[in-house]
Amino acid sequence: MSYQYDLVAIGGGSGGVAASRRAARHGAKCAVVEFDRYGGTCVNRGCVPKKIMWYGAHIAHAIRDAEGYGFDVEQKGFNWTQLVEDRENYIRRLNGIYEKNLTGENVDMLNGHGSLLDAHTVQVGDKQVTAERILLAPGGTPDVPNIPGAELGISSDGFFELKTQPKKVAVIGAGYIAVELAGMLHALGSDVNLIIRKQHFLREFDDILSSTLTQIMHDDGLQIVNNTEIDSLQKVGDQIAIVPKQGGEQLGPYDQVIWAIGRRPLSKELNPQAAGIEVDQRGYIPTDKWQATNVDNIFAIGDVTGRAQLTPVAIAAGRRLSDRLFGGMSDRHLDYSNIASIVFSHPPIGAVGLTENQAREKFGDDIKCYNATFTPMYHAFTRHPQKTAMKLVVQGADEKVVGIHMIGEGVDEMLQGFAVALKMGATKKDFDDTVAIHPTSSEELVTLV
Ligand code: FAD
Ligand code: NDP
Repeated sequence: MSYQYDLVAIGGGSGGVAASRRAARHGAKCAVVEFDRYGGTCVNRGCVPKKIMWYGAHIAHAIRDAEGYGFDVEQKGFNWTQLVEDRENYIRRLNGIYEKNLTGENVDMLNGHGSLLDAHTVQVGDKQVTAERILLAPGGTPDVPNIPGAELGISSDGFFELKTQPKKVAVIGAGYIAVELAGMLHALGSDVNLIIRKQHFLREFDDILSSTLTQIMHDDGLQIVNNTEIDSLQKVGDQIAIVPKQGGEQLGPYDQVIWAIGRRPLSKELNPQAAGIEVDQRGYIPTDKWQATNVDNIFAIGDVTGRAQLTPVAIAAGRRLSDRLFGGMSDRHLDYSNIASIVFSHPPIGAVGLTENQAREKFGDDIKCYNATFTPMYHAFTRHPQKTAMKLVVQGADEKVVGIHMIGEGVDEMLQGFAVALKMGATKKDFDDTVAIHPTSSEELVTLV
């Protein structure tokens, strides 16, 4: 049986583009199906616009800190509209680069919604294309709860569409997106309430990170409203009030309410049952270590698989899959253990490996933690000093490093190299034997006692 393509990827985001370009480089005839702008969530509504706003927020803090270094500066204003316009122009240039790269590798771009007709046929708009292998990489979309008035709030997608800065904002949620959006809005001058339903946010991370960031946010005037579940949102004039489930006074009113309570995979829209693809209860497509679904010639990567929902993960899984399928590298696959990530809070958080609690669950008393909490030299001179905190989790007699957790100025750029060391199996002694770089914050990690 001959097919039009060796590989058709549904989804022109981080995973779909990386996999199809790598497959084409190995000589496969490929197409990517995309109904929106190329680059996916990361480029259009995720990492990229987020990091630009984070840099803006970082500069706001630097202006505030400048006084401590003898500068007589005053923040006279901040032009949100201009930054957003420049940000969107930058993203359009990236969209163009994505398309140019696909064309350059001879990957066909099929524009429209893609869905499965059978295990070898994809419907794109009113066209049908056939492929020997199909890759599902549709990513996800923000979740909004099913409660009265929920539609009065916006999601992270809506946040990136804001052309003017909201003055008073509630961010609801307790994960990466909630913490990041609340932090940058606050730094840029909005009055922010971060509303969480439990006692703490970032509960998946080591406790030292959540507790340190909570204290820093508190000292900085960002209000965290904890143990609050939401009953409904209500319109109050031009603003929105939040009605808590446990009763009591309404919260707000706010100019904007932002839902940041997780994301749902875009699997249903692929018509997976037409090809017999299994989907779990939450809508994720289960895959094995080879990214294979339950159907022989259909694979899935990225957020739709529900594993480590990060851009470099989708890219790495896609490239390795194509190396295996089309590049003759029969054992090539992604190892999902010890993936490092950064939360772009203020200051940022970095983590790789097991938290203290996870290590204790796995190894019992055979673990030890080395901690350091200190004021970094930068903040010795600022009027709003922030702590840096670090934790090394080690295991066994040889003190193998199984977890690294950090919060503080610069940890976002610090973690990558330490993640290599952890992945290679470094021990505490290897850290100790590495001569420090002085004066930095990172030297603390190789001088812990
Ligand atoms: P996506 O990048 O979402 O791409 C899927 C593409 O498929 C989309 O373009 C979509 O339009 C298209 N599509 C979907 N269904 C169909 C269909 N039926 N037919 C045709 N096309 C379809 N990760 C990081 O590593 N670092 C960060 O700092 C970071 N920040 C983030 C900030 C935010 C606000 C968000 C929301 C996410 C962030 N992420 C970050 C996560 C990262 O964006 C995702 O993990 C990554 O984009 C997943 O890649 P993917 O290829 O699986 O899906
Ligand atoms: P997350 O899954 O990280 O966090 C959402 C959290 O919100 C939940 O863990 C839960 O925490 C809380 N929550 C869930 N439902 C409700 C509800 N109904 N009401 C109130 N709170 C609720 O999702 P995000 O949307 O923040 O991000 C999605 C993914 O995108 C991340 O997991 C990450 O993989 C990726 N991402 C990565 C970034 C990075 O690398 N820097 C940045 C942004 C996103 P609890 O149970 O404690 O209440």
